Amino acid sequence: MPLGRLTAAATEAMNHAIAPYSQFHVGAAIATASGKIYSGHNIEASSYSLTICAERVALFKALSEGERDFSAIAITASSGDYCPPCGACRQVLMDFAPNLLVVLSNARGRQKTFSLSSLLPESFSEKSLQKHAGGTKPRRNRSSKVTRSKKA
Ligand SMILES: [Zn+2]
Repeated sequence: MPLGRLTAAATEAMNHAIAPYSQFHVGAAIATASGKIYSGHNIEASSYSLTICAERVALFKALSEGERDFSAIAITASSGDYCPPCGACRQVLMDFAPNLLVVLSNARGRQKTFSLSSLLPESFSEKSLQKHAGGTKPRRNRSSKVTRSKKA
């Protein structure tokens, strides 16, 4: 996957961002192993915490189309500076694409690339849950025991 093409797709998506509150427009484009590109932009809601980032929009679009194998994600922002993925996006990307290459571009056409694992070391994952399922059970303390009162 040519990274220039992926970055161009991210920039194109950025131009459609819905960010009336922050005016901070972000675009992302994720490439599948087979070379398909899915792009997304940030979408803000009036209840700010319901906003979703460009990276997760791109990833979720691809997942909803049945894609499961990803090679790289490009991210661009209207600030013109490098825009690293937020912690929430790093976690979700790690769940679905742990070997992803993350490509950040600035307005001068420069790029920085990172492995996703370097951006989220020692991450929580499906493996963390498996250790629980196959390992020791959590201790129950008495205070968590549910008591029911008899109905009169
Ligand atoms: Zn994010």
